[in-house]
Amino acid sequence: MPNHLFDLVRAHLPVDPSAKTFIETGDGIHLSYADLLARSGAYATALVVLGVKPGDRVAVQAEKSPDFIFLYLGAVRAGAVFLPLNTAYTATEIDYFLSDADPVLFVCDPAKAEALAAVARKAGVAEIRTLGADGRGSIAEAADAAQTDFSDVTRGPDDLAAILYTSGTTGRSKGAMLSHDNLASNALTLKESWRFTADDVLIHALPVFHTHGLFVATNVVLATGGTLLFLAKFDPGRALALMARATAMMGVPTFYTRLLKEPGLTREATAAIRLFVSGSAPLLAETHRDWQARTGHAILERYGMTETNMNTSNPYAGARVAGTVGPALPGVAVRVVDPETGRVLAADAVGMIEVKGPNVFKGYWRMPEKTAAEFKADGFFITGDLGKIDPQGYVHIVGRGKDLIITGGYNVYPKEIENEIDALPGVVESAVIGLAHADFGEGVTAVVVARPDVAPEAEMLRALEARLARYKCPKRVLFVDELPRNAMGKVQKNVLRDTYARLYGG
Ligand code: AMP
Repeated sequence: MPNHLFDLVRAHLPVDPSAKTFIETGDGIHLSYADLLARSGAYATALVVLGVKPGDRVAVQAEKSPDFIFLYLGAVRAGAVFLPLNTAYTATEIDYFLSDADPVLFVCDPAKAEALAAVARKAGVAEIRTLGADGRGSIAEAADAAQTDFSDVTRGPDDLAAILYTSGTTGRSKGAMLSHDNLASNALTLKESWRFTADDVLIHALPVFHTHGLFVATNVVLATGGTLLFLAKFDPGRALALMARATAMMGVPTFYTRLLKEPGLTREATAAIRLFVSGSAPLLAETHRDWQARTGHAILERYGMTETNMNTSNPYAGARVAGTVGPALPGVAVRVVDPETGRVLAADAVGMIEVKGPNVFKGYWRMPEKTAAEFKADGFFITGDLGKIDPQGYVHIVGRGKDLIITGGYNVYPKEIENEIDALPGVVESAVIGLAHADFGEGVTAVVVARPDVAPEAEMLRALEARLARYKCPKRVLFVDELPRNAMGKVQKNVLRDTYARLYGG
């Protein structure tokens, strides 16, 4: 039966599915495309036996393993809505997600089963099963016992395939509803744009509860019949060792900064790779340059989000410009508007980034008002990211809208200040935030990671005053050992704002 997303996988199966590796694990286990078909079929059967019906949510908080991927594909084949949850979420957070998403089945780590079963039962979840990092658990046992032949449940392009909760740094997390075609169309677009073929071997060290690891990396390979080298978590030494056998790697910027610390990172060590992709957080222009100097490869940076899949990408052939996320992907419309008036802005003017296309989600789960508030009448989605489009059509992101600083009535875009600070001698990286200030409303504040040879605060402030308009200059520079980051490597400015909330007595 037609199942829009899984048909994409079927359409790109190797001629002999048992002869081609889909996943090779860090322990050297090879799972073929025949294994993918059998195991996802077994999970689909097991889900149906458990009472999962088309459109039902299947919530999963489990460690990364090949069975996690087979469970995802089994849910898609059974017509269910796959709902992966960050492994870091606590019982209180799980309580919120389960109560909100109302799944029929919740799969969790065996080690957490006792505590979470009580939470799930309270939230009204009918079935609770387990899946561990070793791919074993009661849901895996159910799949062992289930028939591997499964006739896919019919699902059209607009039917939901997944709900992913946004990281939600402010307010409640929202469930982004992603349709079969949101995922399938983006996988095909990325495959074409990044020239993936069945010969590709991708280093996959990303978490699988997030759009980057679950959809971008996994679906692109599924849409080509290629191979994943699957690491449970990122380890620079292991990733480097795999590069001799791989053709591509997708990572968050921290993968690249950590790999740059490996003395073994050389042109020779990366000679087999044809593509390094970065996303989920801004890649420093310096990292881009250092990587090119060490390896000869220009990292391809792209921009997307849970709600929209991927929107823009630097070109495969053509200039990959450091500090930009490239032009809109084919089929995706990107514009920058004045947040106050909604007027579309000319090239180089900074404003709110809005996107429209087959990649953009169907709305927030059970939040019609929030959905309505974030879509324009002409169908564009308001991303919440501020940026500009240069005359060459490349998008530059200057930060999240909520990170914009308004000081003495002037708008300050943190990225501009961060770029100036990062260029000062001895600075490793920086985060610029606004903190409550009696005179200015918000005081521009720099939080800096530096090497011992960095200039003291007063000298740094003087250097910045020579380069930036007075209102943009930080009032204080605070030195820290490292910036707080989430699992995807994003700097958590909300944590910094909370930590230093009273710096100016605010
Ligand atoms: P998430 O929904 O967790 O994938 O987060 C999406 C957000 O990450 C976007 O709205 C951007 O703020 C940020 N982001 C993703 N990719 C990039 C990038 N290449 N450069 C800068 N920010 C990015």
